[in-house]
Amino acid sequence: MTKGSISIDQERCKGCTLCLGFCPQHVIAMSNEVINAKGYHPAALVDPTNKCTGCAICALVCPDVCITVFREVRVHTGGVVVHEP
Ligand code: SF4
Ligand code: SF4
Repeated sequence: MTKGSISIDQERCKGCTLCLGFCPQHVIAMSNEVINAKGYHPAALVDPTNKCTGCAICALVCPDVCITVFREVRVHTGGVVVHEP
């Protein structure tokens, strides 16, 4: 399965929890110990076993465009480099 990761701009996040509910791998959680400048507990990636697939659903549903998605690049032995879409 494709591996991915995300970066969340916690200062932009308004803590709406939408990304949590939509992540099929359940690897986003609210940072209850963090409060951003707007006064919200922001979302954070919690993925100790690397389950994020880079599907980008979280980024698509985030109303404040806080999430950047990274997806692994696979290099095939035939010399062809395939970039995941
Ligand atoms: S990219 Fe997909 S799997 Fe990864 S955190 Fe976002 S919704 Fe979850
Ligand atoms: S959907 Fe966006 S604004 Fe809402 S909790 Fe997730 S990162 Fe924050």
